[in-house]
Amino acid sequence: SVVFDNVTKSYGGREVLHSFSLSVLPGEMVSLLGPSGCGKSTALRCLAGFEQISGGRVSVGGREVSRTPPRSRGIGMVFQQYSLFPNMTVADNVAFGLRVKRVGRQERRAKAADMLSLVGLGEFADRYPSQLSGGQQQRVAVARALILNPGVLLLDEPLSALDAKIRVQLRDEIRSLQLKLGITTIFVTHDQEEALAVSDRIAVMHDGNIEQIGTPKELYLTPKTPFVSDFVGQSN
Ligand code: ATP
Ligand code: MG
Repeated sequence: SVVFDNVTKSYGGREVLHSFSLSVLPGEMVSLLGPSGCGKSTALRCLAGFEQISGGRVSVGGREVSRTPPRSRGIGMVFQQYSLFPNMTVADNVAFGLRVKRVGRQERRAKAADMLSLVGLGEFADRYPSQLSGGQQQRVAVARALILNPGVLLLDEPLSALDAKIRVQLRDEIRSLQLKLGITTIFVTHDQEEALAVSDRIAVMHDGNIEQIGTPKELYLTPKTPFVSDFVGQSN
């Protein structure tokens, strides 16, 4: 599970998350849906520990992690831009988190192979990132995020750099994998169709806050504000 409890975050004097609260149940996939600049990435970065929160608290699996170093929070994250190490093979990219933890070479290799077959890239272990398509690179990024068995997976617009057809395919693959592993997941997107397709619940964000949260059906059929209906409602 994940809890944001009245989290505020300021950059300089400017507050970009205002008493942001959200609970994600174990095994649930929740989308953060909202326009550019509303604070989606900031919320994920605060949970992952790449940013210190200015107020409130964040918890993972019932444990407050507000001051825990990122590596000890039990979180895996995938970013919008391809963020693989270009000078490392696919297998070494996937195994990176194990190397940091000083796991032996043999075991790293075996575990990386398992993760790669999980994302359908068993044959690609010895390639370099530049030899893969964008969609394949993002699957590698997912494998890399999952290798330490995190309790939580954070996906920050992982599909936005891909073309439309691959985007739909990978979106469905990510959802199947998430259901198969039962991993608690937050998926950030500004694409309503994507959010409707993959989520147990959608949290519509507006200017540093959640405007409405509910199942895709609830939001689609009964948006509570014009802002929400613009984003997910039938008028869209
Ligand atoms: P997008 O869809 O474009 O990725 P977002 O919803 O992820 O947008 P954030 O990146 O969380 O938005 O940014 C929220 C606000 O915080 C924006 O106004 C942004 O300019 C500001 N911001 C983000 N990171 C920083 C930073 N490191 N320093 C100062 N301001 C920042
Ligand atoms: Mg962002």
